[in-house]
Amino acid sequence: MLWIGSHVGFQKNTQLLGSLKEALSYGENTFMFYTGAPQNTLRQSINDTLTEEAFSLMKEKGMDPSKVIVHAPYIVNLCNENNFDFSVSFLTQEVERVGKLGISYMVLHPGSHVGLGIEKGIQNIIDGLNIVIQNTKDLNVVILLETMAGKGSEVGSKLEEIKQIMDGIHDQKRVGVCIDTCHLHDAGYDMSDFDSFLEEFDSVIGISRIGCVHVNDSKNDQSSHKDRHENIGFGKIGFDSLCKIIYHEKLEEIPKILETPYVEKEYPPYFYEIQMIREKKFDENLIEKIKMQ
Ligand code: FE
Ligand code: FE
Ligand code: ZN
Repeated sequence: MLWIGSHVGFQKNTQLLGSLKEALSYGENTFMFYTGAPQNTLRQSINDTLTEEAFSLMKEKGMDPSKVIVHAPYIVNLCNENNFDFSVSFLTQEVERVGKLGISYMVLHPGSHVGLGIEKGIQNIIDGLNIVIQNTKDLNVVILLETMAGKGSEVGSKLEEIKQIMDGIHDQKRVGVCIDTCHLHDAGYDMSDFDSFLEEFDSVIGISRIGCVHVNDSKNDQSSHKDRHENIGFGKIGFDSLCKIIYHEKLEEIPKILETPYVEKEYPPYFYEIQMIREKKFDENLIEKIKMQ
């Protein structure tokens, strides 16, 4: 079965129920959200009634709550020693919120070492994650380290770096990977030969550790290290390669999440992109259709 969704909002008055309804309006059977603005630390307390309503609506719609993903805020940078205590405590609270929402997976950008060097950066991430995981040891939330494009001093643009972080984590069941097709392509991996990529992934990390796939096209060439997402089929990866990844038999049970840009910053593309993915046929007029919605 194809589990496909997109990044959706999370509003203080509607919370998980509102996120779910937005996903349903795009024809999705899973989704991903930030529990607040990704660039700040303001967070609403979780309203359990809304959470319960969301869970009963998911049940009614045949959705599997274990496929729903939270994205950790990207202001958290465990590499940065000046902000280390803040990052650890905010991330601990975030895992607690994810647990309270009944969600099982949280995607995290490993961090940027900002001049400390990759080895020191990786060690700080390992130390921080071990504390966060220990702080939340009664929760079953799995932290999925996202593969990064390698913009600036980002850690995690090589599978070996992700593997090194994972190896340092004491509680292995609490850590996995989120692969992002735009980031992988920008980092230098060839998405047109995904079987070879998966083979490499399997030998370095292990396919069973993948908990989420971010499906995005890329505005830039392979190895560009830019991290600019493009709508499905309109970038340098292309529709056929993305479709092969989405329908890959070895990733069948893994949720696929679109983080493609709104058209002209105004029109959400997800209903149309998902429809096109389900039809498995590229529509070169899709952007025009999205604008006419
Ligand atoms: Fe991300
Ligand atoms: Fe992503
Ligand atoms: Zn990105």
